[in-house]
Formats: sequence, C-alpha cells, structure tokens
Amino acid sequence: MDRFNVIIIGGGPAGLFCAARAASRSKNVLLLEKNASCGKKLLVTGSGMCNITHSGSISEFFTRYGDHGSFVRPALRSFTNDDLITFFNTRGLPLITAEGGKVFPGSYRSADVLAVLLDECRDNNVDVHYNEPALHAKESDGSFVVTTPDSSYLSSHIVIATGGASYPATGSTGDGYRLANELGHTVTGIAPALTGIISVEYPFTDLAGISFEKSRVSIHRAGKKIKEQTGDLLFTHKGLSGPVILDSSRYIEPGDDLKISFLAGFNDESIKKDLIEKISANGPRQVRTVLSEYALPVRFVRRITELLGIPADLTCAHLSKKDRAALIAFMTAFPVTVRSLCGFEEAMVTRGGVSLEEIDRKTMESRLVPHLFCIGEVLDIDGDTGGYNLQFAFSSAFMAAKSIDPQAR
Ligand SMILES: Cc1cc2nc3c(=O)[nH]c(=O)nc-3n(C[C@H](O)[C@H](O)[C@H](O)COP(=O)(O)OP(=O)(O)OC[C@H]3O[C@@H](n4cnc5c(N)ncnc54)[C@H](O)[C@@H]3O)c2cc1C
Repeated sequence: MDRFNVIIIGGGPAGLFCAARAASRSKNVLLLEKNASCGKKLLVTGSGMCNITHSGSISEFFTRYGDHGSFVRPALRSFTNDDLITFFNTRGLPLITAEGGKVFPGSYRSADVLAVLLDECRDNNVDVHYNEPALHAKESDGSFVVTTPDSSYLSSHIVIATGGASYPATGSTGDGYRLANELGHTVTGIAPALTGIISVEYPFTDLAGISFEKSRVSIHRAGKKIKEQTGDLLFTHKGLSGPVILDSSRYIEPGDDLKISFLAGFNDESIKKDLIEKISANGPRQVRTVLSEYALPVRFVRRITELLGIPADLTCAHLSKKDRAALIAFMTAFPVTVRSLCGFEEAMVTRGGVSLEEIDRKTMESRLVPHLFCIGEVLDIDGDTGGYNLQFAFSSAFMAAKSIDPQAR
C-alpha cells in the first residue's frame, strides 16, 4: 500500500488550498478527486465570475454564518479576507472589489482562480489522483486507510474536503458525510441552503426575471415573526429567488409564511402615509399610473391591481378605503406561504453537515479521532451570499494545513 503523510479527499477550493499548503514542506500529500478535473463547483461560483470573498473588516464576517459565527471566528482570524486577497495578488491574479463589497478576480473568471490553486498544488508536488473517489476511510493504530475503487492508501493524516450535497452535478454528493460517519462522527440533518423557494400560490410565473432592489422579507412561523432580512429579490418561473431569499433560506421551512415589502426605503407606516397623500393629491389620475411612480415595474403594478380586482382605468378618486388598505398591504406585506425550498440540485450550499461539537474550531481537527480534519462545506457551516462560503473554505483549509504542519507556508 502506498503511504502518504496526508491524504486529502476532495479537490474543491478547500481541498486544493489545504493540499498545496500542507505539501509546502513535506511533499508527501495525496489529493483524491472523484471527477476527471478539480474545482467543478468553483467554476460555477458567482455565475462563473467567482465572488471569492467580501471586503471590510473580518469581524463583520462573523454575523454571516447564522448561529455558527463563533465556530468560524478562529479560522477567519487566522486567514482573513485580506490574506486571501494577498495570496492571489502575489500569484499574479489581482482581486478587485465590486459594488456592494463583493470581491472577484480582476479577470472575473473563476477558471483563473482554479488555475492558481492547481499551479500551487503542482509547484508543491501534490500527488493529484483524478477519477478516484474515496469510498471508505478507516483508522487503526494511528494510521488511516483510504480505499478507492482500485487501490488502498495509508496515511498518518486525513482531511475530508468533499463539500456538501448541493449542486451534485459538480461532484459534491454528500460522500463526506458517509466518510465522517464511518470514522465515528455525527452528521446533523442536512438541507438545501442558499436556494429559492416555491410558494403555495404563485401569481408571478409570467413575470420571471423581474427583480426588486432592497426588498424586505420577514419570516413568520406559527404566527410569530422569526427573522427579517433586506436585499434584492427576484421572481423566477416557479418561485422567489435573489439574494434576500437565498440568504433567508437558511431559516425558512415549508409551511412558513413570508411577508414581502417590494418598496425599498419605506416602512409600513411611511408607505401608508405616502400612498394616502399621493392618492388624495391625484384624484383624476389612474391608480396604476400613481403606483408606477414608486419605480416599480409596470407589469408588476398591473398584476398587483389585477390580483386585487382594481380595474385598469380606476382613478384615485374612485379607490375605496378598503381597496387602498389592501393595496398598501400587498405592497408592504405581500403574503407568501412556503410550499418547499428548491432542492439540492439548485442550492448553492448545504445547511448542516459534520457536527461542529466534534471539531476543534482552532485546528479543524476531530475531537474524536486525532489527525482527522474536516474543512469547507462538509462541516455544518453555511454562509450568506457575498463570498462568505469560499472565504470559509479557504480559511478552514489554511487552519487544517497549519495544524498538520505548523511550518507550512
Ligand atoms: C451555483 C453556485 C454558485 C456559488 N457561488 C458562490 C460565490 O460566488 N461565492 C461563494 O463564496 N460561494 C459560492 N458558492 C458556494 C461555494 O461554491 C462552496 O461553498 C465551495 O465550493 C465549497 O468548497 P469545498 O471545497 O468545501 O467543496 P466543493 O467545492 O464542493 O468541492 C468538493 C470536491 O470534492 C470532490 N469529492 C466529493 N466526494 C468525493 C470523494 N468521495 N472522493 C474524492 N473526491 C470527492 C468533489 O468532486 C469536489 O471536487 C456557490 C455554489 C454554487 C453551487
């Protein structure tokens, strides 16, 4: 059996980065990738442009991982967004900050990010085996045996970097959960996250593609508001998407009620006041015309009035108080009952994963099995849109490599 110092399972951003660093001195690192090429998911990130991280202070990141901000803290502090930017800058790929603080490669090509990681692995003599899935992993007497379809390998360290179960076409099919399980780890319930929602009734199918800036979405369960987020919202053919829905999806469950305000910058009271003033001041004008002044798409205004049974030519002077109240409610608290979240096929990340209670957040090493590490999306970590997931993949990889070899560059 071939023996390695480290076996890394999975050639996504976490696995590649960890492999290159861990190999920087020991030169005895095997990376197993089940696909014919590495980084298939990395290539589709940011619509192929790769929103690799976010600008700003690293402490602002801690609020971006739901309830798991304290777990990610040491890794993000050890290898920050600035460190990541410096890493790529010094390898000839400058990163740039776009509007809203998202950071991308200057070329806006995820393929260039992947190329840097592959070069780094090559330069550090990482032994990359393609088309070789890890099927099983066992530990005995301080050594690991990893079995693939045609071989078995021995190693003193093993890193599970298989990603989650989202976007399975890229190779992330949940294998890491099974491998971690075989080695004694608990895997929490998993669910698609950063994904769209399907609602019980959806009157906007033909408005697919229409988006709203800074919509406010609140989530209600059993009559109680549990969360509110603001961001851009998108109508798709079958439901709601866009950053505010993707980021909220971590908290949403089937059966929840959402209330959506389509109007940026207004709260319920201010829109009510504004709308009443506009309607009173514009008696002879059509309701639809006055609504369009809120910079809402014409087709959306038409649909809202249709849903409320307000005739196309109704003037403000003839709008009843009841219809006015219904109109305000639709614009500021449009009701949506969630039938389901879109599945793993479309989800950007996985909620849940290897239980954090069994992983040392300062090293990414297992608390149960010495020299076993879990990094990236296989862990029970999912971040908001905006580069937070890739940053965690890199930061956790850095930490594991540092723990395996404290002198690693
Ligand atoms: C459409 C889309 C867009 C996204 N955009 C962004 C973005 O712009 N910014 C951002 O921060 N995040 C984004 N993400 C999330 C981001 O891609 C992931 O968080 C990140 O790729 C996780 O990295 P990873 O290395 O942990 O896992 P992965 O990238 O999933 O890599 C895991 C690797 O392990 C391999 N593997 C799996 N099982 C085995 C096995 N048994 N043996 C050997 N190899 C195995 C897989 O083939 C894969 O190559 C996006 C995701 C999607 C789907």
